[in-house]
Amino acid sequence: MIKNDLKNQIEAFVAQHSESITGGLSSILKFPTISGGATSADAGETDNYARAVENCMNFLHEEAEKMGLSWRNHANRVAVIQFGPDDMPFVGLPVHIDVVPPGDGWTHDPFGGVVENGAIWGRGSQDNKCAVIQMLWALATLKAINKPLVRGARIIAGTSEETGDWSDLDLYHNAEPQPEMSIVPDALFPIIVGEKGVMNVRVVAELPGDTGGFAGEYRFARASAGERANIVPCNAQLCFAGAPSLDPAPLENELKRFLDRNAGASALFSRNPDNGEVIITFAGKNAHGSMPEAGHNAALDLLLFMTQSGFVSDDEADVAQFLYDCGNDFSGDRLGIASTHPFIGPTTVNLGILKWRAGEQADVIFNIRNTMGLAYDDALRHINDAVEEFSDETGFDMTARSESKMYNAIYTDPQEHTEFIDALKEAWSAFTGREAALAAIGSTTYAKAFPDAVNFGPLDPEEAPELAHMANEHVTIDHHLRNVKIYAYALTKLCTQS
Ligand SMILES: [Zn+2]
Repeated sequence: MIKNDLKNQIEAFVAQHSESITGGLSSILKFPTISGGATSADAGETDNYARAVENCMNFLHEEAEKMGLSWRNHANRVAVIQFGPDDMPFVGLPVHIDVVPPGDGWTHDPFGGVVENGAIWGRGSQDNKCAVIQMLWALATLKAINKPLVRGARIIAGTSEETGDWSDLDLYHNAEPQPEMSIVPDALFPIIVGEKGVMNVRVVAELPGDTGGFAGEYRFARASAGERANIVPCNAQLCFAGAPSLDPAPLENELKRFLDRNAGASALFSRNPDNGEVIITFAGKNAHGSMPEAGHNAALDLLLFMTQSGFVSDDEADVAQFLYDCGNDFSGDRLGIASTHPFIGPTTVNLGILKWRAGEQADVIFNIRNTMGLAYDDALRHINDAVEEFSDETGFDMTARSESKMYNAIYTDPQEHTEFIDALKEAWSAFTGREAALAAIGSTTYAKAFPDAVNFGPLDPEEAPELAHMANEHVTIDHHLRNVKIYAYALTKLCTQS
């Protein structure tokens, strides 16, 4: 009876405000808060980003004020929208207002805030501006329900999630108190209680002077694959220097034999008639770096071909073999970091970027998802040991080092947080009629920056395609409104006396 009362109250409030809830998302999508493409080298882009963030912050300030929620803005880098008194413990609601660049292939203006065919379209409509508006309206609902509080709730709106820089949250932690627990709406429903860690490790082999020995024949010159470490590269280029007079047939036949032996591999052979240069382009399949097995890594085909090619020196082939072994073993065994956790799953390795210039160096970046129990500093030590062992055996000068901020895995044990997890389960079931299973992910969200943080939505993967970072990102109005209800219900459970 009481449960139904709460559900009905929430349904009524959301129905009454449905136009504003939809309009709020449409409005916030119009600010081009693109952080993923902004670099300090590109001052114009950085200025646009700063202006868009400022406008977006002003918009949120106005919305919060209209709802009677308090607002604190720390230098337009992180803002807090607060319900409940200052001195009360609170549920944190970390979200981010920055987005990745729109890319191509859109049928709607990515920053138009278009509402059409029962959906709201635009960059950020799934990741993560929908959740900003949903949490805002969940707070408004909680406020309207007007029951005595046992906890407050605070939206923590960051601005540099997509860059991985997270200095916004450093600022938060310096200026603001820690939430007791956090609901992070930046992944999938139902409930994600764990995330693997993440580390990008760069392995460099110095190969000076290894440029000759094949006079009068084709000769390996350079190789490249991948632009972002956290993506399985679907394209890899291998280049052989030659001369216009050289016959490319032996090299072309070598490739044919390779493709015959390796059914999964695919490659195109091309030759520049002006300088005789041959370029072999390997084609694979993209996938997220946390799921190397879901893609087909073109860089691995390239490296394997190098290990077998007569137009590559023995030293280069040895290094290619080592890099291939490290990248082809998704479990990290060759790097000495294979490990698994019964709930979070295994450590994974993706060879994400390859840059190799003959006579200079081979340079790769491994995107590693270290599981629970494998701390990043231990993992880095094991990788260094593996690289050192190989370089001792072979005499190559090789190093491994971390390339970006590293994170450990997180896990909120449901047995130890029953009140928290039960509130989320109940909220999910109340508005979907479905059981809330617990899951873990290999990707990284703001959950890693807060204690006892659990991802809860915003995407319902059973009913909607995942379009974060893709063209035609959109959310149905139904799901947008339903999420407000789910979040409002969970917050009412956690924040008010039952
Ligand atoms: Zn996100």
